[in-house]
Amino acid sequence: MALMTREEYIESLRKLDLKVYMFGKRVENVVDNPIIRPSMNSVAMTYELAQQDEYKDLLTTKSHLTGETVNRFTHIHQSTDDLVKKIKMQRLLGQKTASCFQRCVGMDAFNALYSTTYEMDKEYGTNYHERFKKYLLMAQENDWTVDGAMTDPKGDRGLSPSKQADPDLFLHINEVREDGIIVTGAKCHQTGSLNSHEHIFMPTQALSDDDKDYAVSFAVPSDVEGMFMILGRQSCDTRKLEEGADIDLGNSGFGGHECLVVLDHVFVPNERVFMCRENKYAGLLVERFAGYHRQSYACKTGVGDVLIGAAALAADYNGAAKASHIKDKLIEMMHLNETMWACSVACSYEGYKTESGAYLIDLLLANVCKQNVTRFPYDIARYAEDIAGGLMVTLPSEADFRHPELGPVMKKYYSGKVGTSTENRLRVLRLIENLCLGTAAVGYRTESMHGAGSPQAQRIMISRQGNLPAKKQMAREIAHIDVSKDDI
Ligand SMILES: Cc1cc2nc3c(=O)[nH]c(=O)nc-3n(C[C@H](O)[C@H](O)[C@H](O)COP(=O)(O)OP(=O)(O)OC[C@H]3O[C@@H](n4cnc5c(N)ncnc54)[C@H](O)[C@@H]3O)c2cc1C
Repeated sequence: MALMTREEYIESLRKLDLKVYMFGKRVENVVDNPIIRPSMNSVAMTYELAQQDEYKDLLTTKSHLTGETVNRFTHIHQSTDDLVKKIKMQRLLGQKTASCFQRCVGMDAFNALYSTTYEMDKEYGTNYHERFKKYLLMAQENDWTVDGAMTDPKGDRGLSPSKQADPDLFLHINEVREDGIIVTGAKCHQTGSLNSHEHIFMPTQALSDDDKDYAVSFAVPSDVEGMFMILGRQSCDTRKLEEGADIDLGNSGFGGHECLVVLDHVFVPNERVFMCRENKYAGLLVERFAGYHRQSYACKTGVGDVLIGAAALAADYNGAAKASHIKDKLIEMMHLNETMWACSVACSYEGYKTESGAYLIDLLLANVCKQNVTRFPYDIARYAEDIAGGLMVTLPSEADFRHPELGPVMKKYYSGKVGTSTENRLRVLRLIENLCLGTAAVGYRTESMHGAGSPQAQRIMISRQGNLPAKKQMAREIAHIDVSKDDI
């Protein structure tokens, strides 16, 4: 199959027997559910653009395993050019969907596991890398969307996995059998879980010898026996259930979603197990996944492009576009957006080859990139709200706007610049609301803060990678400091 069309992707999801719960009930038809569907549309865009000549260079590439054309989301980066094309693809998809298109977590899991399993095998003589390559081949040939599941519930953050009151607060091995393993636990905040054919699980942190049973990585089909999902709700999500909802959604076409994914004694056959108690390598796998994923936050610059455009349009409709402070705020928004982009580009160009042949980003720069992402979208959203005016949160509903008597009242009092459409003005304000406070704010704001690790996780990596001793030595040399005179 190699490349699926958008329609084939949607049909392939219908074949999955997912166990999904929302608002206390099982969802029987996941694909056509109006709350879930926009998020599926966002993933479908990764298939749709791969079919279009204009985007083929970014969305597709040749598999290093077979030489066949594959979707870039299933590719192992073979050069710095691949790393740069990855983020260009992500910015493009952010622009096309103005939301989280979800397929990056799986791509980042593939790449992190590829080099980590290679290095693990070299030390232990295991065969995880060959197993993983076979799995990857299936992912490429079937053009799968795969969820990258790392974050455990973690319970008491002050305790290690084995010291938790409930052992299931971190995903763990129950039993190692001759033919595979049995696992129990859960993963929180799983992006795109319901739109994924498969899930890859990985440990969430470095692990000591006491926590060997938590050092586990494997892949399962999303409808594997013993696994189920509970959908996370989002601000304004039930607007999608309102009859004829359009303007009030801000972005009626696209969205994202996250789930709590629970595994209750799930059996995983050996050929799908990529780490089993090798706790020494848990930290490396986390570091590499997080590094790739922090690079991936280039996607937010694509969403930022849409928000900046929406703010500029709001100023046009307001009749305030020529004011110098508005122009300056738009410049600042672009400056912040391009600063995030610059770091993502830099960490890609400074990437290097690992022993496995796969290319890794520059970890210091990837962490600086994500640290900026924990801040700048909030500033960009603040400027957008400033430019939009209060109407983005006080606007009556679309039903009022469509009402024969109330509609004309709204048209009269919400009119903006002479010669512009009031409906268009309301549409752009709802888009800004969606990105700053509504369903898409999950992806644009809080995911920017916590996705791929909370801010402190990047600061720890920056302190590790920043090489402070070398910087001190540079200062010593310039200042002619004689260290023999110091007792520090
Ligand atoms: C929208 C969204 C999408 C996501 N998608 C995915 C996904 O697809 N796959 C995936 O695996 N994960 C995903 N994540 C999870 C993300 O990686 C986590 O949110 C992140 O690692 C933080 O974990 P937490 O949410 O449990 O926060 P917490 O761990 O509760 O952190 C809250 C605060 O406490 C601090 N803290 C936590 N532990 C300690 C400690 N021991 N000592 C000192 N301070 C501490 C943190 O620094 C932070 O400031 C997603 C998250 C979001 C919000």
